[in-house]
Amino acid sequence: MDEIRIDDLKVFARHGVFPEENEKGQNFYINAKLEMSLRKAGLTDELGASVSYAEVCGIISEEMQKHTFKLIEAAAEHLICVLMKRFESIKAISVEIRKPEAPIDLEFSSVSVCLRRRRHNAYIAIGSNDDYPEKNESSEELVEDAIRMLDEDPECRVLFRSSMIKTKPYGGVATKEFINGAFILETLYEPEALLDKIHEIENACGRIRKERWGDRTLDMDIIYFDNEVIDLPNLTVPHRDMENRDFVLAPLCEIAPDFIHPVLRKTNRELLEEVKEKCIII
Ligand code: ATP
Ligand code: CA
Ligand code: CA
Repeated sequence: MDEIRIDDLKVFARHGVFPEENEKGQNFYINAKLEMSLRKAGLTDELGASVSYAEVCGIISEEMQKHTFKLIEAAAEHLICVLMKRFESIKAISVEIRKPEAPIDLEFSSVSVCLRRRRHNAYIAIGSNDDYPEKNESSEELVEDAIRMLDEDPECRVLFRSSMIKTKPYGGVATKEFINGAFILETLYEPEALLDKIHEIENACGRIRKERWGDRTLDMDIIYFDNEVIDLPNLTVPHRDMENRDFVLAPLCEIAPDFIHPVLRKTNRELLEEVKEKCIII
């Protein structure tokens, strides 16, 4: 991947754990590496095909001064989110923040953190078959709420979403009808962090895990995460049973019919065809 680099951008700001750091301020030095294709800019010589490094420096300087974070980790995370939102052509960003005047009573040249984040596409299946009386919300409202909460997270953006379908319960435990859908989420989270975020939102929407496949206010499963194959104790991607579920595949086919399952090597459309005889969509 091509890169644009900014080295040692000096910004006077007020980040730090100690109150005197927030009051007096100090110099920070920022290195940024923006990964993107520069082929078109190289061929056309047009600024519009690249990213203006003057604008990037302006944003970094402004954001560093506008906020006061305790940790340079948080400042770096924030800079990455803002730059990713502003420049859609950037695929990945590394930000290093150095703090040569950090309050340490020993000789050192600087302390620093370096964060790298890249864009991923996660394919999420969402479902609900229970309302949440505490929030006075129906299944339909809970699903809308959950999608909005993810979209509002600075590290996420909902790219495409399917319509919602009504389905019969799966697995012989739940009793009420479900609504099901799917969406593509662009995210800077790595897979396990995204799973944590999904659980946080499920909990906020009243999810209680009693029995597998039981009634639920909200369920979100990671069906695919880019083309990755993940086999961890708490996370299996692609989802281990998705190929047997028309209520997952039908919404997925609305938004990504040609996406190829990285293990089965079949498109969502082909997988849906194969499962159609077990149809439970009402
Ligand atoms: P199913 O996974 O068969 O659809 P479920 O969604 O009802 O069942 P949950 O109680 O929501 O099951 O999740 C049980 C555990 O599954 C979660 O705590 C999570 O760690 C794990 N898990 C494994 N792979 C995934 C995945 N791809 N997406 C979401 N959760 C997953
Ligand atoms: Ca599920
Ligand atoms: Ca789940």
